[in-house]
Amino acid sequence: MGCTHDCGTCSSSCGSKSAESMKIELNKLSKVKKVIGIVSGKGGVGKSTVTSMLAVAMKRQGYRTAILDADITGPSIPKAFGLKERAKGNENGILPAETLTGIEVMSVNLLLENETDPVVWRGPVISGTVKQFWSDVIWNDVDYMFVDMPPGTGDVALTVFQSLPLDGIVIVTSPQELVSMIVEKAVKMADMMDIPILGIVENMSYFKCPECGKNHSIYGESHIDEVAERFGTRVLAKMPIDPEFARCADTGTIEMFVSDCMDEAVEKLK
Ligand code: ADP
Repeated sequence: MGCTHDCGTCSSSCGSKSAESMKIELNKLSKVKKVIGIVSGKGGVGKSTVTSMLAVAMKRQGYRTAILDADITGPSIPKAFGLKERAKGNENGILPAETLTGIEVMSVNLLLENETDPVVWRGPVISGTVKQFWSDVIWNDVDYMFVDMPPGTGDVALTVFQSLPLDGIVIVTSPQELVSMIVEKAVKMADMMDIPILGIVENMSYFKCPECGKNHSIYGESHIDEVAERFGTRVLAKMPIDPEFARCADTGTIEMFVSDCMDEAVEKLK
């Protein structure tokens, strides 16, 4: 009753609503081969850092790479790459910004007058923006797109899951979280949406002492291997605590950070 035949905006769950009908169309001029969502249970665990490092590592291997920053209220991708110019557009759509090494980026911070302007928007407007990043941006022949998802399992995360054709998700955790619960929530959400879990990245896993060369488990021993096994997935990478990550992200030089910490992860994602 009262069906508008637009499942994308409908909140009821009737039988005719299929996962496919919720997907939105990519801009006609875009080409995107693989889309990988990066999720976390909460903010601050390093989801954006991992997204950036994965994109940088994939780009270094010669693949055309892009980042869709769907973390609309906490966008940190442009800053990490030192992108300051506002995005441009033409009658066919919005053009993504390009980083120094040629990673395409779209983020709400590239559309704001000032990067410090807060996004004080209601859920549907935020979700609409993410959808537009898919339908209105002209992505130029992308092999791997990494989507920096909003933290948690709220409204916007749900929109991304439902609207974009995700090939899989990567879960980012840190040892100080309730890892098992966070992973279980992400696994259940992905199951509900019928999206594969590609693996887990444990960030801030350990600290390598520059004096003695030993690895120290600052937040206690990691249990990520057992957790991954329990949920039938795998660990893609364990990233150390390294003040260089924070410094590079702060100074917009994350592409210049020389690290092989994501090389194995990228191999597993291919
Ligand atoms: P999220 O996207 O989950 O909110 P961020 O990637 O923005 O988290 O990271 C939060 C802060 O922690 C940033 O200042 C970032 O530079 C820093 N950070 C992330 N990972 C590391 C790490 N492995 N070592 C040191 N600092 C890190």
